[in-house]
This record gives sequence, structure tokens and C-alpha cells, in this order.
Amino acid sequence: MVHHSVSIGVVLSGDGATTVDSMLRAADVALYQAKQDGRNTMRLFHPDMQARVDVRSALEGRLRKGFADELLHVCYQAQVDADGRLMSAEALMRWNERDGSSVPPGDFIQVAEESGFIHTLGGWSLRTACEQMVKWRGRLPEGFRVAVNLSAPEFTRPDFPQRVLNMLAQTGAHGSELRLEITERTVVQDLRATVERMRLLMKHGIEFSLDDFGSGNSSLTFLQKLPVHEVKIDQSYVRRILHHPSDAAIVRAILAMCNALDLRVVAEGVETHEQWTRLLDDGCRHFQGFLFGRPQMSTPDPMTLVAARKVV
Ligand code: C2E
Ligand code: MG
Ligand code: MG
Repeated sequence: MVHHSVSIGVVLSGDGATTVDSMLRAADVALYQAKQDGRNTMRLFHPDMQARVDVRSALEGRLRKGFADELLHVCYQAQVDADGRLMSAEALMRWNERDGSSVPPGDFIQVAEESGFIHTLGGWSLRTACEQMVKWRGRLPEGFRVAVNLSAPEFTRPDFPQRVLNMLAQTGAHGSELRLEITERTVVQDLRATVERMRLLMKHGIEFSLDDFGSGNSSLTFLQKLPVHEVKIDQSYVRRILHHPSDAAIVRAILAMCNALDLRVVAEGVETHEQWTRLLDDGCRHFQGFLFGRPQMSTPDPMTLVAARKVV
């Protein structure tokens, strides 16, 4: 069965649009808003919508220029085991302007997704991470992987698996050195197609991680049906684990469930010893957060990704 949804943008003459051209443009803006608001809905054009679109397209222009000017970098953040030893690293994009300011990925990734630029950006970050992995070889703990985040539009491209395999071939990185992080948002579109793609890439040794677990429309179906190796507990739970019993209970429930499903669990956003100790007591064995190391620019020695600190 095929399901269709309809999004409609409406503009009334008199809303500032005076020519056919400007009316069509305004209707397009309203249509865009309807899609943003979850599709299958209708939005009436309002001049504020235009202002938001203008801000976004200005940011997109700056992003494209910043990328061309090589102002974007890939940083790496350590993931550690229960003893605080380096186990993997997550590749995270950074955009540092020449004036010293920076734009957080939380702001520009979405703009890149909406404009399609994410395909260029994502391909570049995957390539950079694979090249880094090859450079680090010989200095890494057994089983080390570099984890790369994927956006929904990248993952849903029909040629995505081939793009990844080409990247491995071109850079010399192995599938067994790569982990791809997807979120619930990445997979909501077509579960069956997602699973097929994942299985294809897994045949080449690639692992999958379900990022930000618990932050979106968490569905147990995902946990059951997706062939992921790892689940990352969203940092919002870790942040509140010591003071909010319901967050602590959810963390324990995720750990118990994943343990039963034989999935590795990584707690994200661990900032204090107290949080770490609590997570260890609850049975968590893998961690990522400022306590162990902040994201760092490419470094010749991967072991320095873990901050020098007394392990308790
Ligand atoms: P994410 O994949 O969940 O990455 C973890 C985020 O948490 C990173 O934010 C990291 O800097 C931050 N973080 C790590 N430890 C701590 C901590 O102890 N405390 C706090 N407060 N934060 C911590 P960042 O780098 O700003 O990235 C935000 C999001 O942007 C990422 O969330 C990911 O969804 C997206 N992103 C970043 N790089 C890429 C990329 O190359 N491709 C795609 N598609 N998305 C990316
Ligand atoms: Mg991630
Ligand atoms: Mg995350």
C-alpha cells in the first residue's frame, strides 16, 4: 500500500505579495512551513515566515562559503570503557569563523539538511574521519573505531551504502574501523529500507549506533528491529541522573533492556565523577563526555583524546 501526504501553502493577495511571481514565492514559503510543521497540513503565509527563510538562507550562504574557505574541521571526542580507557572516538564537525567565533553544529547541520548541502558536508566529514583512522593505525587500542554521525537525508539516499563503500576504498579505511551513528529521526521514514541498508554495510564490518536514545519518538520497535550494536543514552538523562529520580529510573531501564538485548550502552554527556560513579553503579560500562575529554582537533596521538586525569 502507498501512503501519500499533502502539504499546502496558501497566500492571500494583500499579504505584501503583489505580483504573480511574489505570490508564488510566498506560497512556497508557506508550503515550506507546512512541511516543517510535520507535513500533511496547511499553512497560511505570514511575513514573519519570510524573515525566517531569509535568516536561514543567509546562514546557508555563509556555510557554503565557510566550507569553501576551509573553515570547517572535524574534531574527535573520546569514548571510554569502565576503567576510563580509550575505546573509540566520535567525529564531530566544527565551524570556526576567522574572527574566533564559532557556529555550533546544532545550528548549521539542520540548515545543511534542509538545503541539501549536507551531502557535501557529510561526505567530507566521513572522508576526513576515514583518513584520520588510517593515520592513527598502529597507535590504537584493539577494536578501536571512529564513529561518524549521519543525517537523515544522507542515509535515505539510495546510493548511500555505495558512497560509504567507495569512501572506504578511496581512503584505505576498513569497515571494521568505522561506526555510523544514526538517530530515531534518521529511521522513521522507512524501517524496512533502513534495515536493508544497515545489513549491507554490516557485511563490510561497519557497526551502527543509535544516538540520542530517548530524546525523540523513542520506539521500542527500533531497538527490536534495527540491527544496531550500540545505544547512546541521550545526554539529557545523564545531566539529570543525580537529581531527578525519573531520569535515573529511565537510565536504569535502558541499561536493563539493552543488556537483555545484548546491546552495548554508551552514556553521553558525562561531566562529573558523581555522574560517572552513578552510571557505573547502574551497570553502564561505556562513556563519553567532558569528564574524559572534550572534542579535539585532529591529533597525531589518539591517546591524548582522553584527558590526563586520575582514574577512580
Ligand atoms: P551528537 O552526535 O549527540 O554529539 C554529541 C554532542 O554532545 C556533541 O555536540 C559534543 O560536543 C557534546 N558533548 C559531548 N560531551 C559532552 C558533555 O560532557 N557535556 C555537554 N554539555 N556536551 C557534550 P556538538 O559537537 O555540538 O554536536 C551536536 C550535534 O550535531 C551532534 O550530536 C550531531 O547530532 C550533530 N553533528 C555533529 N557533527 C556532525 C556530523 O559530522 N554530521 C552530522 N550529520 N551531524 C553532526
Ligand atoms: Mg553522535
Ligand atoms: Mg548524541
